[in-house]
Amino acid sequence: MEHSDVVIVGAGLSGLAAAWRLREAGARSVVVLEGRPAAGGRAAASGAPLPDGVPPASMYARRTDRDLLDLASALDVPVDELPDDPALSDLRIDEDGESEASDEHMPLDSSWWTLLRNEWILGRIARRCEGIDFAEPWRSANAEKLDALTVRGWLRSHTSDPELLELVEEQLTLAAALPADRISMLWLLAHLGPTPARGERPLRLDPDLLVRRLAAWAGDDLRTGHHVSRIEHGGERALLHGDWGSLSADHVVIAVPPSDADRLDMTPAPAPSRRRLQRQWPQTEVIRTEIVYWRPFWRGFGLSGELHFDDGIPAWTIDDSPSESSQGRLVAHTYTFGEADPLGADQSIADDPDRHRALLLDNLSGVLGPLAADPVSLHQTLPDSTPYSRAYQSPMPPGFLTEFGPLMRAPVGPLRWAATETAVFPCNGTLNGAVSSGYRAAEEVLAEVASHA
Ligand SMILES: Cc1cc2nc3c(=O)[nH]c(=O)nc-3n(C[C@H](O)[C@H](O)[C@H](O)COP(=O)(O)OP(=O)(O)OC[C@H]3O[C@@H](n4cnc5c(N)ncnc54)[C@H](O)[C@@H]3O)c2cc1C
Repeated sequence: MEHSDVVIVGAGLSGLAAAWRLREAGARSVVVLEGRPAAGGRAAASGAPLPDGVPPASMYARRTDRDLLDLASALDVPVDELPDDPALSDLRIDEDGESEASDEHMPLDSSWWTLLRNEWILGRIARRCEGIDFAEPWRSANAEKLDALTVRGWLRSHTSDPELLELVEEQLTLAAALPADRISMLWLLAHLGPTPARGERPLRLDPDLLVRRLAAWAGDDLRTGHHVSRIEHGGERALLHGDWGSLSADHVVIAVPPSDADRLDMTPAPAPSRRRLQRQWPQTEVIRTEIVYWRPFWRGFGLSGELHFDDGIPAWTIDDSPSESSQGRLVAHTYTFGEADPLGADQSIADDPDRHRALLLDNLSGVLGPLAADPVSLHQTLPDSTPYSRAYQSPMPPGFLTEFGPLMRAPVGPLRWAATETAVFPCNGTLNGAVSSGYRAAEEVLAEVASHA
């Protein structure tokens, strides 16, 4: 049987980053097994055919995403800023199609009193963030108390003004991708991070290019079409099995989201608590739509392209027009957490791409005019037909982080855990989280090797 020092299961960004770090440290034999026909996982291209000269759509990062930005720089992957012209207006569109200028979903014509109280409450949240242990939020002061509360519960203990509650909840829903009554206050504080980035322009990069460069660099070490179905790890060596055959390894990094890990048949079986973590892992999905036009025509109307639709289809759009070309591109997110909550759309919209496309174009043309109804191309990233996770984020319900957080990265025999879901906060759930979790798992393997040398 073929043997490798380290086998990495999953060639998403976290698995590829783990391989990169291990190889940099001089590891001799590292094999990456990927079930899909190509590497990249959730960071890979949507596969949409693009018109000539239109570069692929971006994903977004913060300036503090050091591991991601350094890796992009090492691999010559360009990073730039999203276009920003302060003279252009963002819009918020209500359920009746009426639009008004807004800033981060706050209507600009809100009274000074509402704005002041909004700032006060967001300021209190920011101060709470300062007290969080971002590596291990479950160890923060008052962790149990904060984790027992929903965000809505916390807000209600600070104000009873329904208008203010609605406004703050909407802003937090945008940050968390799930409504305030479904997420734990501890998770939200960890997710927002030590310096909540209000108003900071995101950076953008082509994650697919990053993946392709990492995959090219991994060469024959990367084996696509190699789904791992079973792992035995009770003996001296771990054994990994799939339709493609078997491999043995001294160390295994499982670089797949917890919900995908739950489908691995393990011997010995995982402890019941680890199993519950995998089974109950919360995930939100998003329909991401990339809409290309011949030019960013909305700028000519004084609009930034940042639109927020109260009916949720889409919840928001952002101007992702390539700076080197004349084409215009909007990227839109539709959240399928139910239409009863602000910014949410019903689950069923994800089952009917044609209906989603029609409603989305209808909403866009209602605000931007008839040009919006006729894009050069439109691609919707729907949950795909593969068995692998397409989760966007993992906003946790009350109690989850304190119960399962300590198990998230805890090794099981020779198994180490990567994937963005295991990253420290606030980059947990992001591209940067994927890279940093891969590095951390690689360091754990290197430390283990060193301890036996
Ligand atoms: C629509 C959408 C938009 C996003 N936008 C942004 C953004 O703008 N900015 C940002 O920072 N992040 C964004 N993200 C999140 C980001 O894409 C992910 O955090 C990151 O790509 C996760 O990488 P990963 O390696 O942790 O997991 P994955 O990409 O899921 O990698 C896991 C890999 O393991 C493989 N696999 C699973 N099970 C097995 C098995 N048994 N055997 C073999 N292979 C297996 C899967 O096929 C997959 O390739 C977005 C995500 C989505 C879905």
